[in-house]
Amino acid sequence: MLALTACGSTEPRDPLTDAAEGSLIIGVKYDQPGLGLRNPNKAMTGFDIDVARYIANYLGVQPDQITWKEAPSAQRETLIKNGEVDFIVGTYSINESRLKAVDFAGPYYTAGQSFLVRADDDRISDEHPLQDGMRLCSVSGSTSAVNAQKYFPGVQLQQFDSYSSCVEALARGKVDALTTDDIILAGYAAQYPGEFKVVGTPITTEEYGVGLAKGMDAARSKINDAIEQMIADGSWERALQGALGSSGFPLPDPPQVNRY
Ligand code: GLU
Repeated sequence: MLALTACGSTEPRDPLTDAAEGSLIIGVKYDQPGLGLRNPNKAMTGFDIDVARYIANYLGVQPDQITWKEAPSAQRETLIKNGEVDFIVGTYSINESRLKAVDFAGPYYTAGQSFLVRADDDRISDEHPLQDGMRLCSVSGSTSAVNAQKYFPGVQLQQFDSYSSCVEALARGKVDALTTDDIILAGYAAQYPGEFKVVGTPITTEEYGVGLAKGMDAARSKINDAIEQMIADGSWERALQGALGSSGFPLPDPPQVNRY
């Protein structure tokens, strides 16, 4: 019976309890260059990874005591509620409907929803938004897919499990555009130089929060403290610059940590 709870409990985790015991399980994206990327040698890189490591360190947990867990957009609330992660740092927008299921610390970054198209495609631009019938790709369980349906009901929306699958479909001409947050798109554009371009004035404001189980108020407050310190001591700017500075994407100023 010893192994009963070995893989995935069903009780939500308290990050402070786990940190006191010396380890954390952190949910992140594995396929978003510049944000959360699991490299072929398994090293984790990206701005979200740096934010996660900073928070862990603030809670007394060293990098080698972090267990990373992939947190696809549609599974984030479930991973948190089932106690499969302590918290998630994964381009996770704070919004009303998610706040019914989970809590958020932050925000630690403000993005906006935009479009990625092939570099030689001039049909979609800031002046010419999507045309009816175009094939648009986004990810299930994301705010991007919900907004795409709301703002562009005439387009054919295809929902995949990950943005990297959308990028592949875009490269092969299976879809005309990919829509999600500008910073995510900038990461892909930088990964494949000359292949894609980010277009369109952002249609939303996406405040990225650190998702954790409801009611873990002491942990949420400490994570807010960690984010504030990361911004104040310059680590936030260094991390963003290091992860996406060479992409050409204009890096924004840090947000006000509103302590949701
Ligand atoms: N920030 C948006 C969201 O949380 C899109 C990015 C993502 O799916 O991770 O849904």
